[in-house]
Amino acid sequence: MNIATGSVLNMAPAGHDWVVAFDHGDETAPETVCPVIGWATVVEARLNDGTATTCVQPAFLYLDMVWTPNELREHDDEITGFEVRARAEANVQAPEVRVFHRTVGWTIGQLTPEPCTSNHFRQQDGRPACAKTAVWKVVEDHGMHLSIGFYCDDDLPDEHRHPAARA
Ligand SMILES: [Zn+2]
Repeated sequence: MNIATGSVLNMAPAGHDWVVAFDHGDETAPETVCPVIGWATVVEARLNDGTATTCVQPAFLYLDMVWTPNELREHDDEITGFEVRARAEANVQAPEVRVFHRTVGWTIGQLTPEPCTSNHFRQQDGRPACAKTAVWKVVEDHGMHLSIGFYCDDDLPDEHRHPAARA
């Protein structure tokens, strides 16, 4: 079998008990904590005789996509310090929401602005992708993980308009 290092061979569901934490190259900034949704068997190395060695890595949800640490590091090589932790028990309060505005859009470890998060739903609904600048950043703090969305002015969800107006 010809298979590249870093390939995911299979995945087992992780339940709800685990999160993965990492930072973006700045140890003084708050770390990002994401829910682990599966355990991926990842090709670690290939030996001369064609066999492959594997390791188990967390597959986690970040910015509405599923990543392994390898894949996310390819996307942003400043991200380091992946650490799997048990999710705190009984953390069920409503998320604290913070809404930020930046006229030129938001970037994460790259030069092109993040696309409008509504594209995720537009794709599901068969609508065309949003080409507007995503000027709003919505950070929902669920206690043990953050979810971050980026929205253009038209697509900012209504429930975030009020906090946005106060920000
Ligand atoms: Zn949009």
